[in-house]
Amino acid sequence: MLDVNKIRNDFPILSQKAYNKPLVYLDNGATTQKPQFVLDKINKFYSSQNSNIHRGAHYLSEQATAEYEKARLTIKQFVNANHLHEIIFTKGTTDSINLVAFSYGEKFVNEGDEILVSEMEHHSNIVPWQLLCERKNATLKVIPINDAGELIMSEFEKLINKNTKLVAVTHVSNTLGTINPIKEIIRVAHKNNVPVLIDGAQGIQHTKVNVQELDCDFYAFSGHKIYAETGIGILYGKEKYLNSMPPYQGGGNMVDIVSFEKTTYNELPHKFEAGTTNFGGAISLSAALQYISNIGIDKISEYELDLLNYATEKLSEIEGLVIYGTANNKSSAISFLLDGIHHYDVGVMLDKTGVAVRTGTHCNQPLMKRLGITGTVRASFSFYNTKEEVDILCNSINRVKQIFS
Ligand code: PLP
Repeated sequence: MLDVNKIRNDFPILSQKAYNKPLVYLDNGATTQKPQFVLDKINKFYSSQNSNIHRGAHYLSEQATAEYEKARLTIKQFVNANHLHEIIFTKGTTDSINLVAFSYGEKFVNEGDEILVSEMEHHSNIVPWQLLCERKNATLKVIPINDAGELIMSEFEKLINKNTKLVAVTHVSNTLGTINPIKEIIRVAHKNNVPVLIDGAQGIQHTKVNVQELDCDFYAFSGHKIYAETGIGILYGKEKYLNSMPPYQGGGNMVDIVSFEKTTYNELPHKFEAGTTNFGGAISLSAALQYISNIGIDKISEYELDLLNYATEKLSEIEGLVIYGTANNKSSAISFLLDGIHHYDVGVMLDKTGVAVRTGTHCNQPLMKRLGITGTVRASFSFYNTKEEVDILCNSINRVKQIFS
C-alpha cells in the first residue's frame, strides 16, 4: 500500500495552514500541488542549465536542448507512444485540442461533415470544435448521457455515420468523475474509419494510459494537473495524422527554409512547436512523471479508488446531500449539492474551515443544463489526500448545514 504520510511530506504546500486550520486541499481537478522533487528539478534547471533550446551552439544551449528532448522521451515512455515525434509540447490540454481542431480540421473537415463530442465535455473540448464547424460549415453532434452520468453507448453508435470526421471525448469527466469506456469508443469509431481524440486532462494523473493499447489517434493532457508546472501540456498524435496535418502556428523552430516566395516546414514534432516553447515546463513535466512512476501509477489508482469509495460513502450519509455523478466506473471527483443551500455559499463556508473545494459550473455549462442545476460543489482528490481529510470535509459540511438551518 501507498505510504500517504511519506507522500505528504514530499509536498511542502500541504503542511500550510489556511485561516489557522490545517489546509485540506480538495481542488486537485483544477490543479495539483507540486512535489519537492519537481520543484528541485525546476530550480536546478534554471540555476545551472537554462538557455534557449535548439538554437545556440554553446554549452548551456546544448544542455537545455538535451534536457528538453530527454523530457520528450520520458513522456513517450509514460504513455507508451510508438514514436518520439508523436509527442508534441503544447501549453496544455486546451492548446492541444485547439491544435487538432484547427490543423486536422483544415485538412480533413469539409462542409456537411460532423464532429461528435459528448454531453459531459469541458468547454475546452466543445468550443474549439464549434469554431471549426463555423469555419467549415460542419455540424457538432452530441452523445447524450444517462442520469448516472454515463455515456449512452447505443446513442453513440447511432450518431456515428459516414459524415463523422472525428470523435472527441473526455477520458474522465471533471465534474461527474465518470471514467468513460474510451477503449470501446475507439473500437466503434475505428470500425467506422473515424479517428478519436481523448481529452485526458482528468485521466492521465489517475490511471495508466497506454496510447498504443488504446489505439487512440490523439490524447491531450496538461502538466499542471499532473504535478508539474502550468503552461505546459502534451498532444500525443499518431504519426500518420500529424504528418498530414498542416502547421497550427507559424514562427521560429517550425520551419525548414523560409523565403518570401515559399516556406517549407520542419519535421515532426517541431512542425507543431512554433516559437520558444515552455522548455522549463517540459522539464518539470518529465520530473513529475518520473516522480509518479517511482510511486507506481497502479498503486496511485488503487489508493485513490479506495479514497473515492470512502468519501462517497461518508458524503452519502449526510442528510440533504445529493451527489451528481453515480457512474459505476468513477475516478477522483465528487460533485454534490446541499438541499436549499447555494453551491457558492457552501464553498465559501468550507473554505473558512480550511477546506478548499471548487464551486460553479466547472466549465461544463451544457452538462449543468442537462442536470438542471446551476453548479455544484466539487471535491476532487489526489493520492496525497487522506480519509482524515474526508472526515474533516464531512464535519465541515455538517457545520454549514447547522448554520443554514
Ligand atoms: N478538459 C478537462 C476535462 C478539464 O478538466 C480541463 C481543466 O479543468 C481542461 C480540459 C482544460 O485544461 P487546461 O485548462 O489545463 O488546458
